[in-house]
Amino acid sequence: MARRTFLDWPVIRQLRGADPTGRGTAVTSERTRRTAPRTAAADGVTDSVCPYCAVGCAQRVAHQDGRVIQIEGSPDSPISRGRLCPKGAASEQLVSFSRRETTVRYRRAHGTEWEDLDLDTAMDMIADRFIAARRRSWQDEDEHGRPLKRTMGIASLGGATIDNEENYLIKKFFTAAGAIQIENQARI
Ligand code: SF4
Repeated sequence: MARRTFLDWPVIRQLRGADPTGRGTAVTSERTRRTAPRTAAADGVTDSVCPYCAVGCAQRVAHQDGRVIQIEGSPDSPISRGRLCPKGAASEQLVSFSRRETTVRYRRAHGTEWEDLDLDTAMDMIADRFIAARRRSWQDEDEHGRPLKRTMGIASLGGATIDNEENYLIKKFFTAAGAIQIENQARI
């Protein structure tokens, strides 16, 4: 590293250079000058929206070799203007966290340990329970004979990471099955 003199003092740089208010290059340290952003090596940046809540902050997703390497707030958004809350700022982990669960985990009734289930088995179990609960709780009409055609035994609680198309299909499916409690985590 080059020998430092009093000319390198921030206040001298401020008075001599092109940054008289001391809010830019005059007060930038050598270490900061050598620092590169995490996105410097990115192949490209794609616009997206934070999936975690109904605020819908805009994001810029940096990727390299087909993998997400960083997610930041997008300054183009009139809602969030480049900002993300701590949860949104950590959303890169949603796709790349090394300890993310990638298999179906199941804890049976009265069980004390989680078990792995293959997806087909898990889907069959859910379908069987859905059909049984609907049959058991079906209300065809009320006590005056007025039609109800509903079930109070099934409810849907969607997560905010579910996208528009999935929410559309879930709403259609549950309504067609007679469920009326159809909610989303973002409204709770
Ligand atoms: S979780 Fe945070 S960053 Fe994501 S949309 Fe909501 S407020 Fe914005």
